[in-house]
Amino acid sequence: MSDETPAEPVVKNFIEQEIEKDFASKPTLAGKTVATRFPPEPNGYLHIGHAKSICLNFGLAKTYGGSCNLRFDDTNPTKENDEYVNSIMEDVRWLGFQWDNLHYASDYFEQLYDWSVQLIRKGLAFVCDLNAEQMRLYRGTLTEPGKESPFRGRSVEENLDLFARMRRGEYPDGTRTLRAKIDMSSPNLNLRDPVMYRIMHAHHHRTGDKWCIYPMYDWAHGQSDSLEGITHSICTLEFENHRPLYDWFCKSLEIYHPRQMEFARLNLNYTVMSKRKLLQLVTEKHVAGWDDPRMPTISGLRRRGYTPESLRMFCERIGVARFNGTIDVVVLENSIRDHLNSIAPRFMAVLDPIKVVITNYPDEPEFLQAVNNPEDESAGARELPFSKELFIEREDFMENPPSKFFRLKPGGEVRLRYAYVIQCNEVVKDSEGNITQLNCTYDPETKSGSATASQKKVKGTIHWVSAQHAGDVTVRLYDRLFLSENPENAEEGKTFLDNINPNSMNVVTAKVEPILLAQPAGARVQFERNGYYCVDVKDSVSGQPVFNRIVTLKDTWAKIASKS
Ligand code: ATP
Ligand code: MG
Repeated sequence: MSDETPAEPVVKNFIEQEIEKDFASKPTLAGKTVATRFPPEPNGYLHIGHAKSICLNFGLAKTYGGSCNLRFDDTNPTKENDEYVNSIMEDVRWLGFQWDNLHYASDYFEQLYDWSVQLIRKGLAFVCDLNAEQMRLYRGTLTEPGKESPFRGRSVEENLDLFARMRRGEYPDGTRTLRAKIDMSSPNLNLRDPVMYRIMHAHHHRTGDKWCIYPMYDWAHGQSDSLEGITHSICTLEFENHRPLYDWFCKSLEIYHPRQMEFARLNLNYTVMSKRKLLQLVTEKHVAGWDDPRMPTISGLRRRGYTPESLRMFCERIGVARFNGTIDVVVLENSIRDHLNSIAPRFMAVLDPIKVVITNYPDEPEFLQAVNNPEDESAGARELPFSKELFIEREDFMENPPSKFFRLKPGGEVRLRYAYVIQCNEVVKDSEGNITQLNCTYDPETKSGSATASQKKVKGTIHWVSAQHAGDVTVRLYDRLFLSENPENAEEGKTFLDNINPNSMNVVTAKVEPILLAQPAGARVQFERNGYYCVDVKDSVSGQPVFNRIVTLKDTWAKIASKS
């Protein structure tokens, strides 16, 4: 290789470009490295949208040799708990990331309180007695300026006294707030004297009953970033018009000032992603829990059988943009197909069995050699039992097939994967005319891998299992949880719940080759010609695996869409 070969061009996303510009030009960043954070509120389980933020924040730290913190934005005690905290840590780790520091916004409550006192002293914050409804009326609208609160002119001393008493618990919930004194006529509603603290006599999962005033997101978030020395505080686009407030707080306090940057949140079709809606699916039991394999949560995707690699690949493929859009869920499905295509061993399972009897085959079974994964030699081979009685897939036989049907039909021939070519000679039916058995003959010369195998050419190859060796297993055929592309956008008088797909889970009993019975919990396999499956980690017992369908081999919805 010549040493003039140019280095592969690396396409940088807009955030990386801005970060590099900042480090090249801003004196405040001299001697620092990139510092990011992932700041979930522990009020639910993480979903695939969070994965995008995680990959972005931790990815930037990795790219630039910097750091990324995990910070729980736990400022809303009535909705938060330790179960959520623990699940979030588990999910971040499972995705393959390790935070440099673990923080909680609640660790900063005392500092935030002290800073509020500073702002009161500077005449930049005041205690307001308007209730929520009054405050809404005073706030104005996008087209009308707001009105100043009648309490805005309180003296510093009075504000300090009232704020201290708020903290001591002298007032009931909702009776007073601490507000920043900014500009009631600002075109940006977030700057119209935003609330910094509300009174809430609620038990906090970490601080217990120590506090009865809790900081608002905007007040807690930027100051937490500042305390942690975050260089780039990356959030989703909804926060773009909060940025002036973020900046105002840091400037007014004269503290270290991180840069907030916004990117487009991930939206996926055929799913909902707000935590409130996901919580509703769980509490109203439309699904079996946060980790139900149909949920777009990280724990649901994990249980379904998605790999961390596939989710990271997905996040890389969708990229980071500044404009909101919706990603086709097929992109997510393709990311797991691509990964499993290279790592999943292929075995045979018959989901809707019909019996085949090979009338000219000896009574004794034989054992064939089957390659486990043609994409991965190291996956090795296995012994596959073959015998006189087999099961094949009901849909692989048609009594009156169309001309292009290359599977089994009366008088027709088909190859059995890894085995022989068989011919169907007789269709056996019950008194109601249902097909119960196919009597076939095999041609011993056609054994796969033998010298004579290729002498007989047949167009179709189908999968099968040996009846006497087959095990029965439960298989859950999952499909999309919602019927429409945009379930959030419900018709009038309906909600996203009305759009739930009634057939999002079909449970069948399949006949499988013996090796599938020995798969451990969490194992991912391909059922040949069908799809990728994962042994459910909760409902399987040793020797009796329950298989979750991760994804079909091909996008079956594309077929449906193109037919209609
Ligand atoms: P939701 O709106 O679903 O309730 P949230 O934004 O309130 O979620 P947080 O726990 O506050 O959830 O989110 C933590 C981080 O993850 C935030 O920085 C947020 O911007 C980011 N995030 C949340 N949802 C998405 C998404 N769909 N795409 C990208 N990033 C997201
Ligand atoms: Mg949030």
